[in-house]
Amino acid sequence: MLAWLGSPKPECDRVILLDRDGVVNVNRPDYIKTPAEISIYEDCLEAMRVLEQKGVGVILVSNQSGINRGLINWEDFRQIHEEVIRRVGECGGRIHAAFYCPHRPDENCECRKPAPGMLFAACRFAGIKPWQTFFVGDSPSDMLAAQNAGCPGVRIVRTQGEGTDTGSSPEFVFQTLLGAVLSIYGKDI
Ligand SMILES: [Mg+2]
Ligand SMILES: [Zn+2]
Repeated sequence: MLAWLGSPKPECDRVILLDRDGVVNVNRPDYIKTPAEISIYEDCLEAMRVLEQKGVGVILVSNQSGINRGLINWEDFRQIHEEVIRRVGECGGRIHAAFYCPHRPDENCECRKPAPGMLFAACRFAGIKPWQTFFVGDSPSDMLAAQNAGCPGVRIVRTQGEGTDTGSSPEFVFQTLLGAVLSIYGKDI
């Protein structure tokens, strides 16, 4: 597991855990391999600003098996990470930490979602218990990871017709991250 721990740590008891690809940025079936392939959702930038204004800490929790598949090199991976942090910061939001699993499924690690390893690590870093946060993801394995960690799962289903695949049923479903954030933390700022 790779951890990037920003400073300062979120002080608040309110922390939200977010999947990256498909929630923060548009996902690609062939992985996000270079900084040029990042396209951050507009509603996500707004959601990040709202979270910062409300004092909610943000931690990314992302599977990046493209690394150990040999499709993403370390330098590009680092630059992608930095670009996401920078873009969010530029728009008034803040990412406090990020946890990434570089492993392929056949490596049977404890961090690749739906295993709960990264969610536990994120909660330990933030000093909270899994049930005190939410994990927002877009895939069935995210919802399973949430269930395995004992954390409420929130699923983003951006296009109609998605979200009917099998997996652990999420406790909440929204079309956008902004919709989820406003619903969880309230519309008033
Ligand atoms: Mg995803
Ligand atoms: Zn892993």
